[in-house]
Amino acid sequence: MGKRVVVIGAGLAGMIAACMAQREGAEVLLVDRGSIGLGSNSAMANGVVGRPSGKQDEKKYIADTIEIGRGLNRRSMIEIAAAEAENAISFLRSVGVNGTEGTNMYSVKSPDPEIIPGVTLVKKVREAVGALENVRCITGFYVTEIVTDRDHTRGIRGFDKTGKETEIPADAVVIATGGAGAVYLKNDNQKDIVGQGYRLAAQAGLALWDMEFVQYFPLVFADPHLPSMLVFPPYHKAIKLTNNSGEDIVAKYGLGDINEAAVKKRDAFSAILFGELQSGPVWMDFRDIPSEMWKKHPLSLLAKLKHDFSARPAAVSPAAHFFMGGVRTDEKGETDLPGLFACGEVVFGFHGANRRGGNALLECVVFGTIAGRNAAQYALGNDVSSMKEGGAAPTGMSAGRGDLRALRQEIREIAWNHAGVVRNEAGLKEGLEKIAGLRRRLGAILPQTTKELRLKLDLDSAAFAAQAIMTASLARKESRGSFLRSDFPYEDNANWKKNSCLRYDAENRAFTLSFGDVE
Ligand SMILES: Cc1cc2nc3c(=O)[nH]c(=O)nc-3n(C[C@H](O)[C@H](O)[C@H](O)COP(=O)(O)OP(=O)(O)OC[C@H]3O[C@@H](n4cnc5c(N)ncnc54)[C@H](O)[C@@H]3O)c2cc1C
Repeated sequence: MGKRVVVIGAGLAGMIAACMAQREGAEVLLVDRGSIGLGSNSAMANGVVGRPSGKQDEKKYIADTIEIGRGLNRRSMIEIAAAEAENAISFLRSVGVNGTEGTNMYSVKSPDPEIIPGVTLVKKVREAVGALENVRCITGFYVTEIVTDRDHTRGIRGFDKTGKETEIPADAVVIATGGAGAVYLKNDNQKDIVGQGYRLAAQAGLALWDMEFVQYFPLVFADPHLPSMLVFPPYHKAIKLTNNSGEDIVAKYGLGDINEAAVKKRDAFSAILFGELQSGPVWMDFRDIPSEMWKKHPLSLLAKLKHDFSARPAAVSPAAHFFMGGVRTDEKGETDLPGLFACGEVVFGFHGANRRGGNALLECVVFGTIAGRNAAQYALGNDVSSMKEGGAAPTGMSAGRGDLRALRQEIREIAWNHAGVVRNEAGLKEGLEKIAGLRRRLGAILPQTTKELRLKLDLDSAAFAAQAIMTASLARKESRGSFLRSDFPYEDNANWKKNSCLRYDAENRAFTLSFGDVE
């Protein structure tokens, strides 16, 4: 057997890491709990890839990203992304991704306007991965553990669709498991994106940084008969946004227009909508849009939804969209655990307290490339994996069934009500108590089937992520970027311009918290 790199997660970051590790000469296993590419958040994306508009604008791009991140970003990551942006976009073009060139972005275009650009993007990258020798894709494999030995990564453990547990040895491992948006009641993520990577990393002894920073997108469908889908910008000027009393929200709060509010004042806009929702639904009214516009992107994306937009408004809400926090890597994409690399949304640092539009997809390509290459070099240069590949009987399951679905709803409500768009001390403390009780109840449930086992593990990760968010949020006594506290409404650079750092004590299901200087 050649030197093996295992990549966990087949979203954009993981697929790119797999390609690059293969190019570097490693044998690659790309493992996903679902399918390759299509079950990921990458497939939901609007396809906007950020970049500086030219060499002379790198400085502006770096300054903008730090300004939006309110100074909590790791500058070195932004510099790398700025320098590598053109290579990243060239790679996408080389695998057949078509797009339009904007001044500070590359926008992926779907051949059919009814297809989300992210789907087109992941399909093209997936084709490229599929064509490679020495990359084996394993779908339906749920990773439960990073196997370590004397402070080295040895491989992964997990189970397949039948529940059969397997250990897969690896000379290096890349975590590319994405964020945790679906922890929240209101979110626009794929339903399984609940922070499994944060859990895996913390179990392996890694710290989690800046977990309080969650970005919300202001306009996501909230009608029960509609998918909780982000209403993609740009917004036609005929669209109106009204509260339950029929007031025009944009005019009421002097927001300019919906585009300006959603792009330039996103966090304030989300907080306003969150406030309005306390007294009833918020409606997005598309009725005055000229009929020919419905064939054009982005309104074309709504064509398949079961809602007559020309006849009645749809309820909308802000929703959890993106996680800025996560694991820390060095310039090679390696974590503090030798042989364990990470890339994509699971990594902290690039975005600081808020994310510049387009920077998540850029991060996936740039840092997926770096992590994949360096994981391969690590694997090729070290003789580490002595673990034997092996299977075990289906994971022990006995009686003790509980209502996992009800618990899922509870976690989502706790996260939304206590760690949502606007937070405060009393709410966070109550949320932490509720989540501790819920984790005890969840721990007592023994799943009966593989499906239940997957759901239970998802809930473990979701509750873990919610606890991490609330613990870090309680400590940060200010508002910054996407992070808003009603009891500390101002940014406080004198005391809080620093990154939070959580370490997990599994035995006591508790975090210890510290703060580190911004690098
Ligand atoms: C609606 C929407 C629109 C967006 N639009 C844009 C945009 O236009 N531009 C931009 O820059 N950003 C955008 N973003 C953000 C961006 O899409 C994501 O941050 C990015 O795609 C994350 O990629 P990733 O590869 O890190 O993770 P993901 O694409 O989420 O992939 C993670 C993969 O890991 C797998 N996985 C997780 N846990 C396990 C486990 N335990 N075992 C095995 N597999 C596991 C999952 O199944 C999944 O396939 C958008 C996000 C959303 C939700």
